[in-house]
Amino acid sequence: MPIPERIAALQDEMTAWRRDIHAHPELGFEEHRTAGFVAKKLEEFGIEVHRGVGKTGVVGVLRAGSGKGRVGLRADMDALPIKEANTFAHRSTNEGRMHACGHDGHTTMLLGAAKYIAQTRNFDGTVHFIFQPAEEGIGGARAMVEDGLFRRFPCDAIFGMHNRPGMPLGAFAVRAGPMMAGGAFFDIDIEGRGAHGARPESGVDSVLVAAHVTTALQSIVARNVRPVDTAVLSVTQIHGGDAYNVIPQRARLSGTVRAFSNEVMALIGRNMARVAEGVAAGFGARAQTDYRPIFAPLVNDAQEADFAAAICGEIVGAERVKRDPPLIMASEDFSFMLNEVRGCYINIGNGDGEGACEVHNPSYDFNDRALPYGASFFARLVEKRLVR
Ligand SMILES: [Zn+2]
Ligand SMILES: [Zn+2]
Repeated sequence: MPIPERIAALQDEMTAWRRDIHAHPELGFEEHRTAGFVAKKLEEFGIEVHRGVGKTGVVGVLRAGSGKGRVGLRADMDALPIKEANTFAHRSTNEGRMHACGHDGHTTMLLGAAKYIAQTRNFDGTVHFIFQPAEEGIGGARAMVEDGLFRRFPCDAIFGMHNRPGMPLGAFAVRAGPMMAGGAFFDIDIEGRGAHGARPESGVDSVLVAAHVTTALQSIVARNVRPVDTAVLSVTQIHGGDAYNVIPQRARLSGTVRAFSNEVMALIGRNMARVAEGVAAGFGARAQTDYRPIFAPLVNDAQEADFAAAICGEIVGAERVKRDPPLIMASEDFSFMLNEVRGCYINIGNGDGEGACEVHNPSYDFNDRALPYGASFFARLVEKRLVR
C-alpha cells in the first residue's frame, strides 16, 4: 500500500505546520511555543495530552478497542543556536536560532500521523505519541525517561526517524544492530604557573602543555583503540590567556568522543585521563580530566528493524528501502529510550541528491515533500502492529 490517500491529502496542512514551527525555532528545554503548538493540535485531534514530561516534552495517548498492545512513536522538537542564512518566507524569526536539523519536519510528520490515526482509528490498542525536547546534546530523552516516561506510558516497542539530506526523497534506510555512535564531551583543565611573557623560566606554560596534550590525545584512537573498532576524538576548543605579555596559569581543552560500544567509550575516557596527566606532569604542570558520556550508542533491535523495513517497503517499494546502510558517526539521544524499550530508529530521505545541504548548516531546510512519507510510516506501523 503506498501513501494512504488521507495522508496525501494532508500535504498542504502539514507544510503549513512545518513552516510555522520552522519560523519559530526554540532551543532545548525552551520549546514552550512548539510544545504548546503540538499539545493544541493533539487536543484538536481528540487525543489525550500530557504536558511537561521531561520539562518541555509532550505525550499524546490514543486508545482504540480493547487490545493490550502499546506502541511508542517519537519525534524531537528542538532547534539549534545557528543564524539562519535562508531568505525564504518561513525563515527563522528568532535571531540566532534555527531548525537546522529538521526537527520541525520530524514533529510535523508525527503530528500528521496523529491526525490520520485519530480520524481513522484503524487499530486496536494504545499509541503513545512522544514529542521530546532537547535532542541536541542536552539530554531531552534522558529527562523524559527519568520523568517516568515508560512507567507512565508503557510501550512494547518504540520507533523514531531522522531525515537524511542527500538520500533520495521517498527512500528509507533501516539498519539492524548498532547504527549511530555514542558520544562523550570532555574538558581537560591544565594548571601551570603564570609568569611574565618575557620570563618563561619563572613559570610553567599552560598553553604549551595544552598544545602537547592536544597532539598526544590523537594517539588514543590511533594506538589504543582496536583498528576494527571505529572511534573519533576531536579537540574542538582551546582556551587560555588574556594578555600578550602574560603566560597564563591555566588552560582548558574541550572536545568530543564518538564510538559504537560502551566499552570503547570507557577505554577512551581512561586513556584520555592518563595521557593528559602524564604529559602535563612531564612539563611540571597538572591536568584534570572531566569525561562525560552524553549519548549512548544507538542500537536497533534486529526484529523491530525487519518490521520497520517491511512498513517502509509497503509505502515506497522494497527497492527504495536501503537495508544495513553504513554506520553513522553522529549521535542521537533516542538511544536512551532504546536502552529502556526495544525498537528501531530509521532514516528518511530529504532529497536533492549527493552533496545536498547537510543538517546543522545555516542553509539547510527540511523538505516538505518528505512529510507524507514519514507520516505514512508512523501511521501504517500502528495499523500493522496493533491489528484490529
Ligand atoms: Zn542535529
Ligand atoms: Zn537531529
